[in-house]
Amino acid sequence: MLPFARVTIIGLGLIGSSIARAIRAEMPTVRVTGYDLDSDVRDRAVALDFCDDVADSAGAAVVDADLVVLCVPVGATGAVGQEIAADLPPEAIVSDVGSSKAGVATALAEALPNNPVVPAHPVAGTENSGPEAGFATLFQGRWCILTPSEQTDATAIARVTAFWEKLGARVEKMDAKHHDLVLAVTSHLPHLIAYTIVGTASDLEDVTRSEVIKYSAGGFRDFTRIAASDPTMWRDVFLANKDAVLEMLQRFSEDLTALQRAIRWGDGDALFELFTRTRAVRRSIIEEGQDDERPDFGRAH
Ligand code: NAP
Repeated sequence: MLPFARVTIIGLGLIGSSIARAIRAEMPTVRVTGYDLDSDVRDRAVALDFCDDVADSAGAAVVDADLVVLCVPVGATGAVGQEIAADLPPEAIVSDVGSSKAGVATALAEALPNNPVVPAHPVAGTENSGPEAGFATLFQGRWCILTPSEQTDATAIARVTAFWEKLGARVEKMDAKHHDLVLAVTSHLPHLIAYTIVGTASDLEDVTRSEVIKYSAGGFRDFTRIAASDPTMWRDVFLANKDAVLEMLQRFSEDLTALQRAIRWGDGDALFELFTRTRAVRRSIIEEGQDDERPDFGRAH
């Protein structure tokens, strides 16, 4: 038994097109309708053929949907909610994939007070964006965190859970604010650090840009992957999750100062103890199946 028969995806970039492709692969009888604000993206989606139908407006895309998934930058979620409100069938469930949740949940609840809303965040992605970047297996074995409110209808939550499980994800429920704090540490802060390091290196005057690129395999290269992530998406994430990110940044600055002191005073034991603990974290991630165990992420040398 499939949880939904007609799914509409608004925003046909990396995540939206991956959901469409995964539905085709895992639930081929489900009808998928897509819409994107950008007419060029709509044309590319038609050419790539991962939707049954690409509509010309958000309203037209949702008229007969039983699930609508908003896959737009978090700053646009509330506006898209308002845009579809008049055309949305009263029983349709609305979800999203935004990387921060508390603000999105409030915006959607305000825009769509009469529909069940089950916010979601698939913790899966790449640094690429656009409809060509998506792929059907993106969510296999990855976590999808649902952040429904206490008032959300239990059947709606169960159906959205079943939907993500069909796409290969493992589903967990979490309070929206707690989600934002957890993701501030595991995703938002690492992105901020990567943006900073890559920015600092490109601003250095006594090391040339060609040297930075030539010797990047020394560690810098791995930061550049994260720092290549979509500017619109990440601008919106930092603005939407401001409080949690600033709190984690404060903790991080204090730890960085402690590390600075250890280096200044030649405290090798402190450095060794920290580096031993961090190595264990990497091992746990591999044991959990959340990353490739091959050295250097399996890159060919
Ligand atoms: P993306 O590849 O840039 O796709 C987003 C698409 O939404 C773009 O085609 C964009 O069009 C379109 N769009 C923007 N505003 C819209 C609107 N008002 N109505 C309809 N379409 C609109 O981005 P993505 O990586 O798929 O990210 C989408 C969402 O997934 C974000 O909320 C992000 O936080 C979340 N997410 C991303 C990742 C990741 O790793 N990338 C992982 C988990 C969750 P134009 O840009 O062409 O105008």
